[in-house]
Amino acid sequence: MSVDRFDGGPRSVIVVGAGIVGLSTAWFLQERGVEVTVVDRTGIAAGASAGNAGWIAPALTLPLNKPAVLRYAMKSLFDSTRALHIPMTADVGRAAFLLRFAAQCRNSSWKRAVRGNAPLNEEALEAFDVLTDNGVDVPVTNSPITALFRTERDAERLLHELRQLEEFGGADVSVTALSGPALRDQVPLASPAIGAGLNIHGQRFVDPERFVRALGRAVVARGARFRMMEVTDVLPARRGGIAVYSRRRPRLIADAAVIATGAWLPVLTSRRLNTRVQAGRGYSFTVPVDRPIPAPIYLPDIRVACTPLQGALRVAGTMEFRRPDAPIVPERVDAIIASTRPLLDGVRWDERSDVWVGPRPVASDSRPLIGEVAQDIYVAGGHGMWGLTQGPVTGRLLTEQITTGKQSEVLREFDPMR
Ligand SMILES: Cc1cc2nc3c(=O)[nH]c(=O)nc-3n(C[C@H](O)[C@H](O)[C@H](O)COP(=O)(O)OP(=O)(O)OC[C@H]3O[C@@H](n4cnc5c(N)ncnc54)[C@H](O)[C@@H]3O)c2cc1C
Repeated sequence: MSVDRFDGGPRSVIVVGAGIVGLSTAWFLQERGVEVTVVDRTGIAAGASAGNAGWIAPALTLPLNKPAVLRYAMKSLFDSTRALHIPMTADVGRAAFLLRFAAQCRNSSWKRAVRGNAPLNEEALEAFDVLTDNGVDVPVTNSPITALFRTERDAERLLHELRQLEEFGGADVSVTALSGPALRDQVPLASPAIGAGLNIHGQRFVDPERFVRALGRAVVARGARFRMMEVTDVLPARRGGIAVYSRRRPRLIADAAVIATGAWLPVLTSRRLNTRVQAGRGYSFTVPVDRPIPAPIYLPDIRVACTPLQGALRVAGTMEFRRPDAPIVPERVDAIIASTRPLLDGVRWDERSDVWVGPRPVASDSRPLIGEVAQDIYVAGGHGMWGLTQGPVTGRLLTEQITTGKQSEVLREFDPMR
């Protein structure tokens, strides 16, 4: 392992949370010669990083805070079959999040999030390459993502948003339209209800759980200690350094700590942060298909993502604002199937397996939180729908800040103390 530690930077760091964001940070810290301890209450890939759609898709990282999403959210309050679901139960934290989120659903805030994300997107694929070229041995498939629509008009809506991403975010998004026999040829599962498609080129996909587990193994192989413990607090220690506490085990001490606990971020950080993070729970399951598909399918109008995994199809969707640890709600899976069934043929919905729910960490202003919250205490999270795509680049940029003490221009937009 290359050791390239800057003088004055921390020698030891505890990373709390073994999802894609925490483990990526751990890996890049090790690259700088920092001694790392990774702590998770459950194990590696225990949160949102396991059963997600597995897309590494910088071209699609559209922030959530569009005025149209707010209108959609208002209608969803009274219609539980919609992709966005807000249960009508009393929850003070969720109410506070929704108020802030609503206030941020403005074109200006959306553009700000797009602009802020641009440098993350530019380096996202390369940050994955650094991991896979250096021991994280998992197949990553280069592929277009094919978006399917009922009509060409529907396709134009996404095209418009992607062009905005290009205009405000500087992203280079390459898209080609698909119709007629070419569309059927490429996506034999498309039902007769599908009338238009868009190929969004230059994206990738992985089996996310396999990837994160391999990343965890690499971090341990490079010398990290792994501790299973539920962290209750992260505080400056009396005799210097940072102490990480739990109820049942002795505290851990290091020069610095990174809190990367995904949708559980508020448990350890809410007294320090203004920006709210709320679990936007998504579901996935696996279904056999009559004809294998080579590339992921995106159904933007019902917000469903389908990924080819091990000869079957992983179907992922829905956004449910409920507490992260709540049990699976079968009606949400039924809602995904009811909305997808008319659009795809040859899918054996009744033979579904591996039903999973995971909490996306959604920030109230659609910008992740990456940076220092108190001396030598850092936060990395709140990437919402795109934490897999942006996890490695986040780890790399945060490592730069932790080891040099300087906040880069890029991370200024994601300052957690905003
Ligand atoms: C259905 C679905 C589909 C998605 N598809 C994609 C996609 O295709 N592409 C993409 O880029 N993103 C996707 N996402 C989003 C992505 O999964 C998340 O943004 C990302 O996984 C968040 O990673 P994280 O490391 O911040 O959090 P997590 O993966 O949730 O990890 C947090 C970890 O912290 C641990 N933890 C929590 N509290 C404590 C504590 N007190 N003490 C110790 N440990 C603790 C947890 O056990 C967990 O292991 C999807 C999400 C969902 C739900």
